Amino acid sequence: MITVMKFGGTSVGSPEALKRVANIIVEHESQKKVVVASAMSGITNFLVSTSEMTNAKEKKAAIDTFNDKHINTAKKLFTGKILDEFMKEYDERFDKFKSIILDGNKKDPYYKDNVSSQGERFSTLILSYVLKSMGVDSVAMTSEDCGICAEGKPLNGCAVLDKTETLMAVKLKPLVDAGTVPVITGFYGMMDDDKPLTFGRGGSDYSAAVIANGLNADMLEIWTDVDGFMSADPRMIPEAVRIDEMSYDEAAELAYFGAKVLHPRTIEPVRMKHIPLKVKNSFKPEDPGTLIHHLGRHTNELLKSVAVKTDLCIITISSAEITYRPKMVARIIEKMSENDVIIYSMSTSLSTVAFLIHNNDVKQTMMKLNTIDAADIEKIEVKNDVALICAVGDNLLTTCGVSGDIFSAVKEARANVEMISEGASDVSLNFVVPMSKVTDVIKILHKKFVSDKQ
Ligand code: ASP
Ligand code: MG
Repeated sequence: MITVMKFGGTSVGSPEALKRVANIIVEHESQKKVVVASAMSGITNFLVSTSEMTNAKEKKAAIDTFNDKHINTAKKLFTGKILDEFMKEYDERFDKFKSIILDGNKKDPYYKDNVSSQGERFSTLILSYVLKSMGVDSVAMTSEDCGICAEGKPLNGCAVLDKTETLMAVKLKPLVDAGTVPVITGFYGMMDDDKPLTFGRGGSDYSAAVIANGLNADMLEIWTDVDGFMSADPRMIPEAVRIDEMSYDEAAELAYFGAKVLHPRTIEPVRMKHIPLKVKNSFKPEDPGTLIHHLGRHTNELLKSVAVKTDLCIITISSAEITYRPKMVARIIEKMSENDVIIYSMSTSLSTVAFLIHNNDVKQTMMKLNTIDAADIEKIEVKNDVALICAVGDNLLTTCGVSGDIFSAVKEARANVEMISEGASDVSLNFVVPMSKVTDVIKILHKKFVSDKQ
């Protein structure tokens, strides 16, 4: 049995956290273990600002700060021969790091990917040596060492799964089969030209899912600092409860729409191969966490969780009988896609088409839309400060009358529903309300559909 275990920034953020994580790995019952880790907490943000520096003195200071952080951590963990061995590998990685910061080509569109992905190379090296110091046969590996291939735009890459699987069969699988515990860098893969490409912030979860896919692992465990997926954001709803079990679809919707537990693309690589995924709290390893898998049966709960995406905006474009002119709709979408704007929801009526996008994208989008021939468009309206509420549950759309019940709860909060999307996904009902009403709506929904049903 192969288990891929991923640990986030806080789980590897201090000598104490690193020891705790190493104990979790050692005590885990799986015969074959593969570890994936993020950079130590705070390091990726630090590297993002370092990548923007132009002044050589500033860069040198940043290199020193980065060095101190990792060396101080290592010196609290290792002594003697282990420390000497560690320093040898560390210096090799550190020399490369230094030359990227001092001499890297800032004009390269992938320069920021290169700089911001450096933290993982050092956190994984330290964690691997903690395991070695406990007598485990472990090796620190980079994404290039084990064959993670990536493609896409800067800071927003995707893994090339088939190629990754082929390379891993040669570069990684034999080690795992021999019982070695590799500790692999999360967050990035390598493009065809051997440059690193990151998978978006929080992308180590996705890396771990890609590795699980490539190895045909039996289980993926994402170890984080929360208890698992919750029925609502506990900062908004203190009574929120942990969800024990959910389907891939439910988890994917929730991860996409706001629950910040997993990188939104983590589900796909494991769903494809039916690999179960557990989300667990590394500060409470005995807690069961949330298990995500193919639910063979439907559970009784109607609504599992309510997530919310805030700071959105609706752009409504009016144009006579637009629904009869699909080419016009296509042109509008094409204009929006020139900026790679994410469209969270879309709806049409006879003479309007409305898009839900992030507040930050409004200015750019309006500039593009204004380049469409004025004769084709009657008006464009912008409604700011709305939020998308995403009610997730396997049985939500197949149970008669549920949407009615949900909207009567919304009415209780005296909120006006601005936009609805139902049926686009099998497991979620999404609707838009003004930002000022979000908390009230979620409180009422959670009480009626989750707390009162317990
Ligand atoms: N270290 C990266 C970040 O902070 C990746 C991750 O943590 O998953 O975004
Ligand atoms: Mg994360």
